[in-house]
Amino acid sequence: MIARYELRCSECGALAQRHDLPCAICGELLEFALQNDARDPALARAYIAMVSQRRASNDPLDRSGIWRWRELLPSIPVDAVVTLAEGNLPLYDVSAIAKREGIAALAFLHLGMNPTGSFKDLGMTVAISAAHAAGARRAICASTGNTASSMAAYAARAGMEAYAMVPRGKISGAKLAQMRDYGVRVVEVEGSFDDALAALTARADGEAAVVNSINPYRLEGQKCTAFALLEARSWRVPDWVVVPGGNLGNSSAIGKGFREALALGMIERLPRIAVVQAEGAAPFVRLYTSHTDLIPIVPHTVASAIAVGAPKSWRKARAEIDASHGAVVAVSDDEIDAAKARIGAAGIGCEPASAATLAGITRLRAAGSIATSDDVVAVLTGHVLKDSDASLRVADHRDAGA
Ligand SMILES: *Cc1c(COP(=O)(O)O)cnc(C)c1O
Ligand SMILES: [Zn+2]
Repeated sequence: MIARYELRCSECGALAQRHDLPCAICGELLEFALQNDARDPALARAYIAMVSQRRASNDPLDRSGIWRWRELLPSIPVDAVVTLAEGNLPLYDVSAIAKREGIAALAFLHLGMNPTGSFKDLGMTVAISAAHAAGARRAICASTGNTASSMAAYAARAGMEAYAMVPRGKISGAKLAQMRDYGVRVVEVEGSFDDALAALTARADGEAAVVNSINPYRLEGQKCTAFALLEARSWRVPDWVVVPGGNLGNSSAIGKGFREALALGMIERLPRIAVVQAEGAAPFVRLYTSHTDLIPIVPHTVASAIAVGAPKSWRKARAEIDASHGAVVAVSDDEIDAAKARIGAAGIGCEPASAATLAGITRLRAAGSIATSDDVVAVLTGHVLKDSDASLRVADHRDAGA
């Protein structure tokens, strides 16, 4: 299958010359826009079969759940690709939880089962490969811990230096330790993730590759989550895909993946995308339900990975919710902790931001958005070992209450 992409503005559609600057016309984020206009289900079936055969190959590109789909990614010279065999994503069926929630089916797609323990690897392999191909010597990002850990690992593999801007005192000890293990230089910034991102933007010199999710290569890798999910379900489209939202790159990317799968004839309909935010960091829920533009807030939540007050990809995410007739919902920190305890007790485990999905499902079911007949997939974004303080807090609480 031949897919053709053009780097364009995600809002006004203007063609862009460089991926690392906002649109020259309207200042919005760029995207790799699919140019194919003919659906071809027969060709799509043949392509899916070929990708499926690659799973048996020992070529590092084929061992990656991202590069297996390389015909659907921006073209990058094969010898510049930096991969850690990311993107082989388990889908765990949890029928006992589905029953408790009063829905037909529920499964967790665990993106924490990636080389550095979060979904950031799915996009980082593409962003660092693109930077490596372009000859960049340094990578930089703002991060609540997972982006920086992922960047640090892939940059180290590529022989690049890496710099992480992190909010002081706002990230888990495990994440800080992990990124330093890979040799990153850490710059602590007062305030929240948003302040770290603003500090990065002020410092960016055009020399270092910025690998936050404003980088459109990141989202191309992360869109493969949709393909991996469909592949694991033998191309049966679920009714809902539930994703936690912080900076909103991942929900945007997953929505894009499903839309491309539909446009290319790989599937016949879209699943509905639900974005879940923490109540103390829910500017997207607010703007979506009140039909306004973004009003930045100062974020407060135990779910540090989604503690973002001014999400950069809010326009992209809004378009994906609209296109899929999806939903947005906010959940409290107590609900996140309770959901985390349940996911742990199911033998799966995740970090707090990921548990927001299950808390969101409970809310959406109660509101009638998710129906009893629905088949739901929740996307777990980070590994249980990413935040051991949260695990101890939640387990102490559960054991005291039992
Ligand atoms: C980055 C991250 C998120 C938020 O993803 P966005 O793309 O910023 O919305 C959620 N959960 C985990 C574990 C993360 O690392
Ligand atoms: Zn534009």
